[in-house]
Amino acid sequence: MAANTNTVPFVSVENMMRLALEIGVEEAIAGIADCIEEDFRRWPLFDKTPRVASHSAEGVIELMPTSDGIDYGFKYVNGHPQNTKEGLQTVVAFGLLSSVETGYPVLLTEMTILTALRTAAMSGVATKYLAPKNAKCLAMIGNGAQSEFQALGLKRICGIDTVRLYDTDKEATAKCARNLVNSGLKVVSCQSAEEAMTGADIITTCTADKKNATILTDNMIGPGVHINGIGGDCPGKTELHRDILLRSDVFVEYPPQTRVEGEIQQLPADHPVTELWEVITGAKSGRTRDEQITLFDGVGFAIEDFSALRWLRDQIAGSKRYVLLDVIADPDDPRDLFGMVQREKDRM
Ligand code: NAD
Repeated sequence: MAANTNTVPFVSVENMMRLALEIGVEEAIAGIADCIEEDFRRWPLFDKTPRVASHSAEGVIELMPTSDGIDYGFKYVNGHPQNTKEGLQTVVAFGLLSSVETGYPVLLTEMTILTALRTAAMSGVATKYLAPKNAKCLAMIGNGAQSEFQALGLKRICGIDTVRLYDTDKEATAKCARNLVNSGLKVVSCQSAEEAMTGADIITTCTADKKNATILTDNMIGPGVHINGIGGDCPGKTELHRDILLRSDVFVEYPPQTRVEGEIQQLPADHPVTELWEVITGAKSGRTRDEQITLFDGVGFAIEDFSALRWLRDQIAGSKRYVLLDVIADPDDPRDLFGMVQREKDRM
């Protein structure tokens, strides 16, 4: 990248869309999934903290920082389930990568699309390690902004061939089915969550409602399935009935964050969970029995965004898919910031 010290490569929404199309959405998800796996394998060396959340009656605004000691990244992201009624998205995001050595930013980017790609990548990684062998059929509950990415990620990473869709809003299901028409997946639109789950080996819940919802009840879940519960990601915002959690082996990203934000907020603070990074390194077991119900209680953790940011930095190197922004005030004499401001008079 041809960045000077005072300019920062910036990936706009337009460039992100074009990049995703040039690479291919499925390939982009797979590339980010590889970066997530690499970073989960070196999990102990990352700086880790639960994200910093500012809650309101309408939603939440969050900052998600982490560092591997060489790069530092953060994402700004919101979650406002009522936004879609106003024609706005539930989730929007942007983020930044910087050099730990100098503190100077090295990449600034939109992250609404990148978050959808990385959330699909994360579900793909969890499903790869936890789903039953030869799982082919996904029940996708919640057919909003994330849903097509989720389905394509599981197709590319886990080899599913069928997706069964359900959303309380029929228009969302129709939109999702339309968008997946040339995906190579068999798409079945369903009238209820129960119907969507018929024959599914993998269930992904990705709904948005700021309450303790019950998208799935215990009687809907047969033995041997893998569940990605990713829409419950805030205090007071869950999707699964507590009894499902008690029958499942629960896998999480970062327990101090998931215990507050995930499905397991419904359980005592000492309920046993397995950290997914330990399954990836082989230190802990994933699925051990055919009839076992595995639940990835995904809330989205900063390291996944870091993985997506460093993937993006590599993708834009040598490409046209960024512009340079004048973000850093960087005087020739580092201590003469005031003089630099004064000299600007002559150029006005
Ligand atoms: P969205 O608003 O675009 O879509 C949500 C969909 O859920 C809507 O179509 C809505 O009609 C549907 N829905 C609501 N209640 C339902 C119910 N009871 N049964 C079936 N469908 C129902 O939102 P989105 O951007 O797709 O995000 C979905 C959820 O995922 C949000 O809650 C968001 O916060 C969460 N999310 C999590 C992560 C993560 O890393 N875990 C990342 C991104 C988004």
